[in-house]
Amino acid sequence: MYRSHNCGELTATHINTEVTLSGWVQKSRDKGFIVWVDLRDRYGITQLVFDEERTSKDLIEQAQNLGREFVIQVKGTVIERASKNSKIPTGDIEILVSELKILNESILPPFTIEDKTDGGEDIRMKYRYLDIRRNPVKNSLIFRSKVSQEVRSYLSKEGFIEVETPYLIKSTPEGARDFVVPSRMNAGEFYALPQSPQTFKQLLMVGGMDKYFQIVKCFRDEDLRADRQPEFTQIDCEMAFVDQEDILNVFEGLTRHLLKEVNGVDVEKFPRMLYDDAMRLYGNDKPDIRFGMEFGELNAVTQHKEFGVFNNAELVVGIAVPGGNSYTRKEIDKLIDWIKRPQVGALGMIYSRCNDDGSFKSSVDKFYDQDDLAKWAEVTGAKPGDLVCVLSGDKNKVRAQLSALRMELAERLGLRDPKVFAPLWVIDFPLLELDEETGHYHAMHHPFTSPKPGQIELLDSNPGEVKANAYDLVLNGNEIGGGSIRIHDKETQAIMFKHLGFSEEEAKAQFGFLMDAFQYGAPPHGGLAFGLDRLVAILGGQETIRDFIAFPKNNSGRDVMIDAPAPIDDKQLTELSLKLNLKS
Ligand code: ASP
Repeated sequence: MYRSHNCGELTATHINTEVTLSGWVQKSRDKGFIVWVDLRDRYGITQLVFDEERTSKDLIEQAQNLGREFVIQVKGTVIERASKNSKIPTGDIEILVSELKILNESILPPFTIEDKTDGGEDIRMKYRYLDIRRNPVKNSLIFRSKVSQEVRSYLSKEGFIEVETPYLIKSTPEGARDFVVPSRMNAGEFYALPQSPQTFKQLLMVGGMDKYFQIVKCFRDEDLRADRQPEFTQIDCEMAFVDQEDILNVFEGLTRHLLKEVNGVDVEKFPRMLYDDAMRLYGNDKPDIRFGMEFGELNAVTQHKEFGVFNNAELVVGIAVPGGNSYTRKEIDKLIDWIKRPQVGALGMIYSRCNDDGSFKSSVDKFYDQDDLAKWAEVTGAKPGDLVCVLSGDKNKVRAQLSALRMELAERLGLRDPKVFAPLWVIDFPLLELDEETGHYHAMHHPFTSPKPGQIELLDSNPGEVKANAYDLVLNGNEIGGGSIRIHDKETQAIMFKHLGFSEEEAKAQFGFLMDAFQYGAPPHGGLAFGLDRLVAILGGQETIRDFIAFPKNNSGRDVMIDAPAPIDDKQLTELSLKLNLKS
């Protein structure tokens, strides 16, 4: 028996008990005649004491030679500590050691295994197995496990069946590049790793499975913007004989269950916001509604003067920054620099100070009088003491820029409290999205999403206006889930493929299996997928998903611990009928 107890459970009630513990040496303090060692395992830390008066010299010597991260086993008696530590559950006791066995030695770890370590991100990723011994990482993984278990328990109770779908498949278009795997047995042919199990879960509905879920890895070969991973985990779900309302209710229930069980938070019914309203009021399809600062569109109250910048703009739009009138000129200039950075890309910012006496002072006083500025304040909801920030230009660009400013200011104002949870559904997304570069439309969600009833005719005349039965679940400014009611008949699916620029042959080659399946009595169906990594991070009150993934990849898609990706040898290449054509 390696241990009778773990290192987190012994308290004053165990005094005089004989125990056996195993774990890692966190640290030791050596006073010559007495040695204390902190023994650590997953559950906590227990203090060991080796004392000349009560134990043999030999044993003290052994204790003195223990290094950090040695794995040891001790036997001893639980005794009351002279100086207690109220910060840890085991702080009232210590173990008077009678036997010590070294189970394994450790070389000196490259960083300290402490909550606040001296190791930088790179070194911690290289030695992730040591990083996992640290409380912040360990606790994040335990937290993630709890969330996954609650997901499984809730969905199972609701009658969902967990079905695994294959990883070696054919491209599923979720809008990213595929990772591909060469087939040795079928020379010159490749599998694609699933960007999601989308087509398979739809086939499960045709197969009559009616309520499916899976906690599943998905793979997308994208340029890794901050906080994305090339392989990530979804809670993937699909249901048959449902409409949008049914789906929203079930998965609102799941989210509410998680918030309650994991965070102890009760949330009211989730608000629903039309996509068009989200864009108009927040410039963003994943609005953070923990705070206000809604957009006010100012075209109608700005375009009657000689100010060309506003007159020529498709959109003039502002937000009221609470208390922003206290910003100095220098601070405002800095804000303007921030918004002009290439990452945000605004050309400039106009502002109007709302003074406490009800007067205004703007950066365009030459063009706009007090009555005009009063209207700006009214439209943006600004109060005395606030600052109205106004951007103008191309509608889509300006909305994105002002949204970035809104989030940045809210962060600085402390309005994004990670302990507050504000979920909402964003519904009625457009079916298609115009790709500015190619001038072609592509599916905003994916090609299997159904248009709203009665809108299919609009596809020819006004494709950008067609709305989809598609919805996103948004939590604290993050999209944590998204899905749609699917097309379930061959004809509509064919029309959709045609509008997405697939020839009949291409559609057949890529998705013939799905079109075929639709001919055999496909039920009406729909579903959604949650991004588990992000969901866990938000519930855990953190911004970065990496902390909640045991073995994450870095920003270049590398696993620096196992050093992957890596070249393969010539024999393997030959077996796979592959030749490299590397550009030096
Ligand atoms: N497959 C979709 C995605 O990964 C989710 C869905 O439509 O159910 O975003």
